Parts: sequence; C-alpha cells; structure tokens
Amino acid sequence: MPRHFAIFMVCWVVLGIGVGIFYKRATYATKKSAHPFLVIGFGVVFLGFTEWLMRWNVPWFFIVALIVITFLNIRNTQFCSGCNATIYPRGFTRPLFCSKCGVALKS
Ligand SMILES: [Zn+2]
Repeated sequence: MPRHFAIFMVCWVVLGIGVGIFYKRATYATKKSAHPFLVIGFGVVFLGFTEWLMRWNVPWFFIVALIVITFLNIRNTQFCSGCNATIYPRGFTRPLFCSKCGVALKS
C-alpha cells in the first residue's frame, strides 16, 4: 500500500470515528447547527486528500460530484427532536418521519 494512501486511510478512519461519536452523543440542537459545517469540512478534507493523492490532477467532474453530494447530504440528513436520532437519507428524498420513534421530522 502506498504511504500516501495509508496516511489518508488512517486520517479518514480517525475522522469517521470522531464524527460517529459526535452524531451518536451530541444533542439535537448541536447536531442540527454543526451538521452543515461538518459535512462541508469533510468535503474539503476529502478533496484535499484526493488532490494530494492524485498530484493535483483531480478532474473537474469529481469536484462537481463532491459538491452535489455535500449539498444533498446537508439538505437530506435530518435529526429527530423526539429521540435525538440522526436520520440519514435514502436516495434523493428527505425522510418525513423518524425511523426509530415515528415522530414527524421538521424540515
Ligand atoms: Zn425519533
């Protein structure tokens, strides 16, 4: 495994564990306010690693796809005010109800 890729994988796993703990333990209000910044931050870090791994030759459509994915993640991920669950989107639509407790989700 190339050294650059190993560094990327270690950083990505550590960030993933940290964010996983955050989404599991943070309050509803904290998750709702921090989510856009976390998703944009992850997108920037991922793009930075990708540029670094590809020696600054990332194709433009990759960047566009990353922006679209970031936008959809911010728009469609919701948080339940009833049970504090993080509701991840399935496809391109926003869930209307919490999958854990059934409460109607706020837009
Ligand atoms: Zn719920």
